[in-house]
Amino acid sequence: MISVIQPSAAQVNDDIPLKAVLAAMAAAGQSQALVTHQDQVLGVVSFAELPLGTDANPLDLSALKAESLPSVGLTCQLEAYAHVPPMPIQPVVPTASPTALPMARLQQVLQGAGLGIWDWDLQTQQVTCSAELEFLLGLEPNSFDGRYETFLQLIRLGDSLHEPTSGTQIDLYFQTILRQCKHYQLKFSVVHGNGAVRYLLMQGQVFYQGEKPCRMTGLVFDITAHCQAEAALKRHHERQQIISEMAQKIRHSLQLESVLEQAVLAMRQFLQADRAIVMRCLADGGGQVIQETVDGRFDSMMDWRLRSTWGLRPDHQARLSQGLGLAINDIKAESPSAAEIEFAEFFGICSEVIFPLMQDDRLWGLLIAHQCDRPRTWDHSDIQLLETLATQVGIAIQQAKLHEKLRYANDQLQRLVFIDELTQVSNRRQFEEHLEQEWRRLCREQSPISLLMCDIDHFKQYNDTYGHPAGDRCLASVAQAISDIVKRPADLVARYGGEEFAVILPNTDQAGAESIAEEIHFAVRRLRIPHRRSPSDKIITLSIGVATSMPIAASYRQGLVENADRALYQAKAAGRNCIIVAKPSPSES
Ligand code: GH3
Ligand code: MG
Ligand code: MG
Repeated sequence: MISVIQPSAAQVNDDIPLKAVLAAMAAAGQSQALVTHQDQVLGVVSFAELPLGTDANPLDLSALKAESLPSVGLTCQLEAYAHVPPMPIQPVVPTASPTALPMARLQQVLQGAGLGIWDWDLQTQQVTCSAELEFLLGLEPNSFDGRYETFLQLIRLGDSLHEPTSGTQIDLYFQTILRQCKHYQLKFSVVHGNGAVRYLLMQGQVFYQGEKPCRMTGLVFDITAHCQAEAALKRHHERQQIISEMAQKIRHSLQLESVLEQAVLAMRQFLQADRAIVMRCLADGGGQVIQETVDGRFDSMMDWRLRSTWGLRPDHQARLSQGLGLAINDIKAESPSAAEIEFAEFFGICSEVIFPLMQDDRLWGLLIAHQCDRPRTWDHSDIQLLETLATQVGIAIQQAKLHEKLRYANDQLQRLVFIDELTQVSNRRQFEEHLEQEWRRLCREQSPISLLMCDIDHFKQYNDTYGHPAGDRCLASVAQAISDIVKRPADLVARYGGEEFAVILPNTDQAGAESIAEEIHFAVRRLRIPHRRSPSDKIITLSIGVATSMPIAASYRQGLVENADRALYQAKAAGRNCIIVAKPSPSES
């Protein structure tokens, strides 16, 4: 049996070959070994008095005599052993004393330290395992049969827990170590009979006889706790990464609706929960579900209104109001009232996590995830990560609200720039821009464009008769009536001047334009706005000039306006309350 305790000496029985003693010392990186006999420590053997080797002339143990070894009652078989690294000379420690450490205690120390030893004799193919290693491998004491193949079956390389490495692969790995490295370090895992996984680190050395490897030895450490901590840290890091990516995405959304939609999706996906909702906190102390994602097996809570206190205990409410999240593992067990339990049962809620969505230090809403089929113990570090997500969602909500305000302000500005305030149709500026843009587009498309110029008949009289405010109302009604007729997205109604409206009709030929003009003419008559002093009729009427062009070059754009204007003039001259279609100008015919 060979065992090692660190940082003290290697430990050997007194009946093993010196080669193995030296191997154990080398494997342990020690220059001395404890020598034991029947559980009693006899003393220490060291490299004292051994000649030191050099790189050019390595230590030749074949030259050593048994008598030259320290007198510890050790009988060793001397063998040529060329590759033992030179060790510093250590003083010899006296032999067994009454205070010597019993073997059983040593083993306890080794077991306590989680250290095992393995030794593979390549000539005999015999593998020796210390009792501690058997323990680490999950074997019964003394049950290891000493076969290399058995050892291979027991271990899995690295972290490949889910895909066990075959014995052949591990053998290949060992063969590579034998060929290439003197010192090696190997991480492997074992699955004990009870299913528990242990991670072990084997560290040691290969010994050679001449050029040929003859022995491989190593210390085996239990690094399970370290690996688990490492895995937990890795998982935490990955989860943090996921959360920060989700938060990034949410932060880039500018619409409130999309912020909330992504927040519930992210939360449900991250927690693998059955339902995630956003509940908006209302001024009366109640709440309303305004966003949701839910597993199809469970009922939707969308639009559900809660009367008060969001169905929560006062201490939980207080916690949320302070901006802190909370997890309730088992609602039935933790809820104070039958009503709350009934509510939870109605929606199948067994367990939940809740995060406050704060706005200006006030509770704006709650981000909630539900587990519906069973109580659940929520992962504490997940809850912490989600707290940061909720903070980001809060910022995104604020951003979306600001963006909404900005958009509204921009819209208003746009209206001021392009909309005629009195009639709420486009103004002259918008008319010019739109006409130019459509003209260019239709030049490429080679499609006709028509323009209507509509002017209210005897409007001066109308003002004089009914007053200016009535005139204003009349203008707004006429504008609305014209707009109601014009439906295509690219069409545009604009107030061209005082009581004159222009209608741009892209992709419309003369016949189409004429029919729209008739519809408009009739629509305004149908308003039946009284105009008792109008020489044309006793109601408000329009005169309309119609012109159509096939756009060919930018310079002809003004021609269309002039033609429509001329036609309108002709309609006025023809007695008003009528439509005149302009003849195409000579350049276009
Ligand atoms: P015609 O049939 O030849 O078009 O006669 P008209 O009286 O309609 O034409 P005219 O150009 O002589 O008069 C236009 C009138 O429209 C004069 C002006 O007071 C009125 N007007 C222009 N802009 C507004 C407005 O914003 N509000 C009101 N109430 N009246 C307006
Ligand atoms: Mg007029
Ligand atoms: Mg006019």
